[in-house]
Amino acid sequence: MKHLVVANWKMNPNSLVGAKRLFNSVKTRVRGLKGVNVVICPPFVYLSELSGLTLGAQNCFWKDKGAFTGEMSAKMLKDLSCKYVIVGHSERRRYLKETCRMANEKIRAVLSNGLIPILCIDNIGQVRRGLKGFSKKEIKKVIVAYEPIFAIGTGKACSIEKAKKINLAIRKILGEKTVVLYGGSVNPENAKAFIEKAQFQGLLIGSASLDAKKFNQIVKSLN
Ligand code: PEP
Repeated sequence: MKHLVVANWKMNPNSLVGAKRLFNSVKTRVRGLKGVNVVICPPFVYLSELSGLTLGAQNCFWKDKGAFTGEMSAKMLKDLSCKYVIVGHSERRRYLKETCRMANEKIRAVLSNGLIPILCIDNIGQVRRGLKGFSKKEIKKVIVAYEPIFAIGTGKACSIEKAKKINLAIRKILGEKTVVLYGGSVNPENAKAFIEKAQFQGLLIGSASLDAKKFNQIVKSLN
């Protein structure tokens, strides 16, 4: 099975020129790698300007259209050729007070528009609440990213033992075949262990995805 490596650029880079430069640099480096699927999630404003690699969004709203100032629908993202949508990232839970209920509704919108949700969770309770009410068929389409809060952007990744335990617990609840990613201070040195030892099917990369060279080293280490 191909591994999935998702780049979450967050609110970076701060110009379109910078975004294009980073995107093209990643594109050139990962082109031709057969064992890994790479997805780039840039800020919304750059989505329509980037092409040639699979795109994802960092968020969406739970309705398809209407009076929701400042929001973006899954339908709009689909129209911009996005394939994936990150939902429930811990930074949105922290700074924008997003709840599991909101994540749940967003996943419904993402699925109903034929896109793939990547539900970010810090604990098992968030898996249960985020996917409450979904059928087995719908759950099969959801990707879960285990992103322990203490590991995000801190340079202190989760231990392989703990990450593996949570990975297996998620798959026990949702099904063996669920695609589970690890995210949190992944770097070229530790990336492979999360796949080989902790048995994740892929990675969600924040800070290291802003450095094309580092990001490429991570991707290559899984190829
Ligand atoms: C993230 O925010 O999704 C993330 C994984 O960040 P970092 O790699 O910087 O820890």
